[in-house]
Amino acid sequence: MTGTTGRRAPGRSGSGAAQDEVRRHNLSAVLTIVHRAGSITRSELTERLGLSRSTIKALVAELVALGVVTETRPAGARAGAGRPSLVVLPHEAAAHVLAADVGVDRILVGAYRLGGGFTASREAQLSGGPPTVAQVTSHLRVLVAAVLEHPGVSRVLGLGVALPAIVRSSDGFVRFAPNLRWVDEPFGAVLEQTFPGLRIVVANDSDLGALGEHLRGAGRDVDDLLYVHGDVGIGAGFVLAGRSVNGVAGYAGEVGHMVTRPDGPVCRCGVRGCWETEVGGPAVAAALGWPAGAVQELAQHLRSPLPRPERQALAEVARAVGRGVGTLVNILNPRTVILGGLLQCVYEAASEEVDAGMRAVALRACLEEVRLAGAACDPDAVLVGAAESLWLRLLEDPAASLAPPPATEQLATA
Ligand SMILES: [Zn+2]
Repeated sequence: MTGTTGRRAPGRSGSGAAQDEVRRHNLSAVLTIVHRAGSITRSELTERLGLSRSTIKALVAELVALGVVTETRPAGARAGAGRPSLVVLPHEAAAHVLAADVGVDRILVGAYRLGGGFTASREAQLSGGPPTVAQVTSHLRVLVAAVLEHPGVSRVLGLGVALPAIVRSSDGFVRFAPNLRWVDEPFGAVLEQTFPGLRIVVANDSDLGALGEHLRGAGRDVDDLLYVHGDVGIGAGFVLAGRSVNGVAGYAGEVGHMVTRPDGPVCRCGVRGCWETEVGGPAVAAALGWPAGAVQELAQHLRSPLPRPERQALAEVARAVGRGVGTLVNILNPRTVILGGLLQCVYEAASEEVDAGMRAVALRACLEEVRLAGAACDPDAVLVGAAESLWLRLLEDPAASLAPPPATEQLATA
């Protein structure tokens, strides 16, 4: 994911089709770097991609013609002081994608621009128990319409939705979402009908959180990281050797269902003693004498100084968080473990205990390089990851996915 390299065009013997493929690959590589860097000079692009200056010049010119980047003289450059390399910037108004984070008690939708960052966002608080597919779809329709009203949101190309669920990556079919109480729901297909014309991606929230943190947060420039997300349930996303690791069908990372206390309570998955029953939202709430359904309020509460009995109860939970992390460290040998959602609040309130729990379980060799961190994406790793997962697809072939729409489509969306 981090390794973006250019490709040289074949020589005179190469076919036109092969040359076109190389050009498309290189356009993708240039725009991916510009999207992630925000701004970069032509000479830095030349160096990073290992392509000639004239090739970079032609590729940037094509992206300017597509309307997705602009070029400027660097700030402070003086006339006559040599020829400073032009700075290439994403044209932020060129296109947006929509991202949604669907939780048991809240839905958040944002419009995320080329170059990164949210132009607008809207949130709905849910009450009355876990929402059905129809209720989530209805909320999404309202929130998306509200986000699209923002004058800065231009040409929207897709919708990425994060769910606390085991999601089939090929079509967004939800196999199991214990905390939403969904089993075998064709959610991706429902979204395609609801939002015709938008490219739809549905994925597990922790997998998207890992992607968000890898590209924009505490895992930037880290090729081996785990992102562990806590909400009502617990899940993890893995980036290993610079690539998202999701398993054969997209179901990897259900770490909340590692059995850590075989004599513990029965989990929502039906098995006794899952890690989630020790450190999931309801368990943290119970330990602190807090109502079980109020995860958002609990997260807010953990950010303030706690009275002594709550501090001691949280220390127990924090050690259980650390022990689970320690097991994952033994299995995957990451450089960074990033804690997000409610687990980030536990970590920030009781980092020494989380660290002690991890050290009690992880092997010395695996501990040598590992670092614990709270998530750093703004505003939220999962939402950023949902947006970036769409940009990853769109940036694979910018000439096809970002070409200006035909005049009729412009009229239709005006
Ligand atoms: Zn379980």
